[in-house]
Amino acid sequence: MELQALIFDIKRDCSEDGPGIRTTVFLKGCPLSCHWCQNPEGQNKRLELSFQAKRCDPSVCGLACISQCEVACLSFHNTLQVDFDHCIRCGACFEVCPTQALTPVGYFITLSELLYRISIDAPFYKSSGGGVTLSGGEVTAQMPFAHALLKTLKKKGIHTAIETCGFFNYANFRKLILPYLDLIYFDLKLIDEAQSIRYTGQSNRLILENFRQLANERDVDVVPRIPLIPGITDRPENLSGISDFLKSLSISGATLMPYNPLWQDKLALLNLPEKYARKTFMSDEEKRTCIGWFN
Ligand code: SF4
Ligand code: SF4
Repeated sequence: MELQALIFDIKRDCSEDGPGIRTTVFLKGCPLSCHWCQNPEGQNKRLELSFQAKRCDPSVCGLACISQCEVACLSFHNTLQVDFDHCIRCGACFEVCPTQALTPVGYFITLSELLYRISIDAPFYKSSGGGVTLSGGEVTAQMPFAHALLKTLKKKGIHTAIETCGFFNYANFRKLILPYLDLIYFDLKLIDEAQSIRYTGQSNRLILENFRQLANERDVDVVPRIPLIPGITDRPENLSGISDFLKSLSISGATLMPYNPLWQDKLALLNLPEKYARKTFMSDEEKRTCIGWFN
């Protein structure tokens, strides 16, 4: 059977995920569960269900979805009620919903299908110095597929990049992914282990060790990135601690990524709890303060 990946988006004409014009593929599944995750639909490695109540209009469909659900997770009490906990993601309701109130989050795509989609954009890579970026979720959570895809792209001479949380088995990564990469955006979030466990669900030990090893690799550009999350990662001791860690590896800079609150609208659609409440962008002064603490 042909390799396939569970992805949740393909963005074309991207200019933010690496040099030139790029196609960014978002793979589902991540070992971390950051409280501020910008792509919460990418965390779960399974297909998920999204329900947009404002789109639901039973007068159009006669509640067609309810009779399709064999495990009875759909019911109507003034509005459609979805029992997310018992949904088995069979997809039967998506098929009959005319308004797309019920939609799948994620879909399977074969390697050849994805390569075909990428080939449509390839002329733009040549003219702009762009390429393909794999994001997520966490790319390395689907290592065999990422390996096959990156290897094929490299054979075609296409520039490749990944965005990673850094939580992976280094030996596997070095063998299956690294030889086919030009650029790695590597997130460094929290320098304190207890804080890392508290806010991302994982210890940072493996992440820091992987970064340390990657910094010694010769044939790939590694760009450290720090998401600035007010009250969590933007604290002076965290920013100066990451700065010291990088300096110990003779790396003087990093990309600081100011907080963007737009992800929060996704939580209700996925029935996920809110773990981080800030709903505003960072002010220029906040950003300047972070730069000062990092330097
Ligand atoms: S995806 Fe399947 S199990 Fe889940 S609500 Fe729809 S019909 Fe029911
Ligand atoms: S979710 Fe779709 S199919 Fe179900 S009642 Fe609403 S509009 Fe109809």
